[in-house]
Amino acid sequence: MYIEEWLHRIIRAGFGAAGRIGRTDVDSYRLYRLRDTVAYAFRMSSFYRDLFNVCGIRPDDISSIADLTKIPLTAPEDVAATPYRFLCVSQSEVARPYTFVTTGTTGPQKKIFWSGGDLDRIIDFMAAGIGTVAEPGTTVYILLADGRPFSQADLLSEGVSRIGAVPVVGQIDLDAEQHRKTILDSHASVVFGYTSRLFRMSRELQERGGMKDLGVKVLFLAGEYVSPSMRRELQSLWNCSIRTHYGLTEMGLGVAVECEAGDGYHFNEADLLVEVVDPKTGTPVEPGAEGELVFTTLTREAMPLIRYRTHDISRIATSPCSCGAATLLKIGHVRKRLETIVALDGGTEIYPAFFDDVLFGIEGLIDYQLLVTRHDGNEHLEFKIEMSGACPDAVSTIRTKLLSVPEIAEVVKSGKMGIPSVELVSSGSLSRVERSKKLIIDRR
Ligand SMILES: [Zn+2]
Repeated sequence: MYIEEWLHRIIRAGFGAAGRIGRTDVDSYRLYRLRDTVAYAFRMSSFYRDLFNVCGIRPDDISSIADLTKIPLTAPEDVAATPYRFLCVSQSEVARPYTFVTTGTTGPQKKIFWSGGDLDRIIDFMAAGIGTVAEPGTTVYILLADGRPFSQADLLSEGVSRIGAVPVVGQIDLDAEQHRKTILDSHASVVFGYTSRLFRMSRELQERGGMKDLGVKVLFLAGEYVSPSMRRELQSLWNCSIRTHYGLTEMGLGVAVECEAGDGYHFNEADLLVEVVDPKTGTPVEPGAEGELVFTTLTREAMPLIRYRTHDISRIATSPCSCGAATLLKIGHVRKRLETIVALDGGTEIYPAFFDDVLFGIEGLIDYQLLVTRHDGNEHLEFKIEMSGACPDAVSTIRTKLLSVPEIAEVVKSGKMGIPSVELVSSGSLSRVERSKKLIIDRR
């Protein structure tokens, strides 16, 4: 419930509110910030000024959260095409321009700008997030891409320090055994890192004594969907609890953290407002229904984004979270991204979570990749699988598991497709930083 206390503290400080904070206080805070953001973006960003003018909207037209739907969605392509039109401060006030690609090699490259104040708030939420699992004195081992100034690892380190805990940034080029030794020597009880990298490391170390004796209490996983089977495997390999994190660079890297209930995320409601829309029509879905997450920044100085499409599919829970955080909204796990969905000929849609759920529970399975191909007019699924060590029955076990996915069983049974082929590939060949982006490759 640390996130909730953190949010209440911000609302009390911002409004001078005393005593107990209820959901209506959170809503008043959101509306106040939203109106402020809309007026600011209209004044300072040429993109939003033109957008509002074209649609005949004035900032005063936004007098409730529901009015937000009067404003068209902002697409990632808009940001990629003209990033400077979103910039609301002079370039000398930008503490950090950040260039990145979020959707694999085919996605547009984007530039995101943060002011010093933005970075401070980003670090503050990271502190609150890590505060859900660490306390003053706890050592947190950070295994992210790099440790350059203002990198994600660097910002998280500052967040860790802000709550009085001790950050240790792991060098990314170390092998699994060296990471194991560093975790042991630093007495880290929390490990924060990318899911696929930590999973690979766990499998590699499994044969060499494992991680159970490391004293790690929490694995904090970032960057990808974590299937229930992978979660169970990691829990047992490390003998610790698992928390997952949902992040998006455009929204300030850290967006949401899982609470102890383990079935969704509480997000940064001090700085972000969330909606769920139908990805095809852009209209809001019914409460609790699945759709695309759309965020509006509430405090961003350098580059506010209003109704920004994430391409991530999830839902907002309609019942209160069992962790007891009654004043916080909860977003469900993000099981699919629009870019990772592949539609087969008959219309069946497949995406990585289908296969994650059945494959990662197979002992020794490190990673996989799926190629969708076409031979003689027929579609075919070709799985490349990386295992740790020799697994004589692996291929038949994997085939059986794949056919247990109802959608796959159905297309195979209908005769539209043969049984998926399974090829075991050499150790390390599927090693990559951001797995989810290259998991299903469409070669039809
Ligand atoms: Zn909760």
